[in-house]
Amino acid sequence: MSDDCIFCKIVRGEIPCRKVYEDDEVLAFYDINPVAPVHILMIPKLHVASLAHAEAAHAPLLGKMLLLAPKLAREHGLNDGFRTAIHTGKAGGQLVFHLHMHVVGGGNIRHDAVTQLT
Ligand code: AMP
Ligand code: ZN
Repeated sequence: MSDDCIFCKIVRGEIPCRKVYEDDEVLAFYDINPVAPVHILMIPKLHVASLAHAEAAHAPLLGKMLLLAPKLAREHGLNDGFRTAIHTGKAGGQLVFHLHMHVVGGGNIRHDAVTQLT
């Protein structure tokens, strides 16, 4: 947990979110500024600042998040596909330094539009 981290505050219920999924390790909620009809953020409840801060001990948690993405996508009707993105570090476009995966779809995602998510 990190006191001033906005996503830790969401985990603690101090900032509201529109929840999509929750278990003891993972929380998913709708992005406040969606770039497509479906735009979900999935986070570990554990404060890990970025993918570059992930360690071997986090592997099961990261695997769980990857496997949850297609499940949430399916539940949102994204049967033709979806995009996942993890922005890492300032140069990777990361704005919130609590590891999170974007799950995006339902719009007209171009093949070259990897950078459109910020
Ligand atoms: P990035 O760190 O570049 O992956 O971007 C952070 C993402 O978090 C952006 O898409 C924001 O719209 C989203 N975001 C920031 N604050 C909130 C919040 N309180 N609730 C939901 N999404 C948020
Ligand atoms: Zn945090």
